[in-house]
Amino acid sequence: MTEGAPPVPAGGRDQDFLAPAARLRGAGIGGLEQLSDLERSERLRRMREGTLGSIHSWELVTAVDGPGTRMTVFFNGCPLRCLYCHNPDTFLMRDGEPVESDELLRRMRRYRRVFRASRGGITLSGGEVLMQPAFAARLLSGAKEMGIHTCLDTSGYLGANASEEMLDDVDLVLLDVKSGDEQTYSRVTGRELAPTIAFGDRLAAKGIEIWARFVLVPGLTDDPANVERVARLVERWSSAVSRVEVLPFHQMGADKWDALGLDYRLRDTRPPEPELVEHTRAIFRAHGMTVH
Ligand code: SF4
Repeated sequence: MTEGAPPVPAGGRDQDFLAPAARLRGAGIGGLEQLSDLERSERLRRMREGTLGSIHSWELVTAVDGPGTRMTVFFNGCPLRCLYCHNPDTFLMRDGEPVESDELLRRMRRYRRVFRASRGGITLSGGEVLMQPAFAARLLSGAKEMGIHTCLDTSGYLGANASEEMLDDVDLVLLDVKSGDEQTYSRVTGRELAPTIAFGDRLAAKGIEIWARFVLVPGLTDDPANVERVARLVERWSSAVSRVEVLPFHQMGADKWDALGLDYRLRDTRPPEPELVEHTRAIFRAHGMTVH
């Protein structure tokens, strides 16, 4: 990427989400200060205070991860283990690069005019952004001080880590609702659904805009009864939800699972047929949602 002359990508990605390999081209942490020589205890202290974080990469995207052109920052560390994860290399916080919050904020400042012209902003994604709440809070408050639109992309599983002050600096949440019934949620993620529901309730009560996201995986999440439960959850937050995104599963992450020596269990799963995608979107529409 050219310093000082930020490129504006011509237009988003199609179905890929959560930074599959294709979107990582041209992204990275180039130019960001690396702090590998910091003492471990000093590093931990700074991570606790939020001046230092562990990130995978960042990039500029358009019409994905929120409105307009956005600087999306991918945090390392995630408590979930979604079977379809496109970013298994963000599972562990220790695998990320140490980056200073001030350095990222300087980057954001540089893109301010692009954000303003495109009605974009920043999106904190991952991994799971709420694994590093102090770091996220600094980036969010710094961005708001610059008048930049802010967005969190999260499963909500660690929603309890988000303080009220942090949420005051959040304009939009992309809330991944990975399933509507407990059993399917657990099969998909290895964790429980309840924290996501609690976080959605909290966002709706605070009036923070939500884009609800659901990944449609044939044979895993596509049971109409499961989709119906997701739709009911989203409807319960309808005062805050401005759109629902149904994201068709595809195989973009398989190579990463292999490279990491992890057991990828969806190798034989096909992307959903267009009819199934449309049928699933219709379930959300029947609950009065605007669906993409
Ligand atoms: S929430 Fe799931 S899809 Fe997202 S980074 Fe974690 S494991 Fe991957």
